[in-house]
Amino acid sequence: ETLDKGLEKTKQGVFAKLQRAIAGKSKVDDEILDRLEEVFVTSDVGVETTLKIIQRLEERVARDKYINSSELNSLLCDEISDMLAENPAAADPSVDDFTLPESVGRPYVIMVVGVNGAGKTTTIGKLAYQFKKAGNKVMLGAADTFRAAAIEQLVVWGERAGVPVIKQKIGSDPASVAYDTLQSAKAQGFDVVIIDTAGRLHNKKGLMDELSKIRNVMQKVVPDAPHEVLLVLDGSTGQNAFEQARQFVAATQVNGLAITKLDGTAKGGVVIGISDQFKIPVRYIGLGEGIDHLQVFRKRQFVESLFG
Ligand code: GDP
Repeated sequence: ETLDKGLEKTKQGVFAKLQRAIAGKSKVDDEILDRLEEVFVTSDVGVETTLKIIQRLEERVARDKYINSSELNSLLCDEISDMLAENPAAADPSVDDFTLPESVGRPYVIMVVGVNGAGKTTTIGKLAYQFKKAGNKVMLGAADTFRAAAIEQLVVWGERAGVPVIKQKIGSDPASVAYDTLQSAKAQGFDVVIIDTAGRLHNKKGLMDELSKIRNVMQKVVPDAPHEVLLVLDGSTGQNAFEQARQFVAATQVNGLAITKLDGTAKGGVVIGISDQFKIPVRYIGLGEGIDHLQVFRKRQFVESLFG
């Protein structure tokens, strides 16, 4: 999936609204800015981030005096990508996608969190495939032990990606699975470990305790683990994704986001809003169900594909 194709629905939605907003105008004025505000809010960017974007545009228009409405798209690309956090995984354009940071020891440990249905298992499978393709030895840990289906699904994805999965029986202690996985990965010289966790949000304390227990136990094997806590959010849920992000960020130290299902939705604006609001870089975006439908998020490229 190319980015343009994957974002087609969002692109069409946003672009059509933008065109309507600027139709017949030669100059960016207050009326255009008002209409743009509406375009962004209704494109799931979120109110807070929309107001920030509009303010930046206002300043830019005031500074540059006369801005032609046909320059608006490139102005939007500049201002929005300046505003967003850079993805550390994409910061260095000379480094290939899915290259692990060299400054960190091995195994590099990624703990994956998110509610059920968000696309956790799929994203783990896709990541395993990409990291393996990049020449790494990858191991998965099935620490979502509450649902038999979750363990089975991870095993299926492990087979697809051609990487081993460490599991125990349903109902076993998630921290114990995480411990086993790290032990085994360390003993066998694996480069990357990805741990699946249960996404139960029934209460905040329960989630917090469970995730911190997994974290503590992992640190007995790899002291600086997890290197990445990746929160997986379903982009097609729009504003619900904001709410989930809020809850997980409050419960654990999330330092990366994966936003899935952007291919089937016109709500791709959430990527901009969430990335801005939580100051957590979007690392990956999911653009389909297939094993290679995952991309490293590059802010400029993303924004250009919407407005360019
Ligand atoms: P989990 O419960 O969070 O582990 O969610 P799953 O990984 O099982 O995914 C739930 C559903 O979403 C499955 O049907 C996946 O195929 C689908 N899915 C996951 N990521 C994407 C994506 O990027 N695009 C599309 N179209 N579907 C996805």
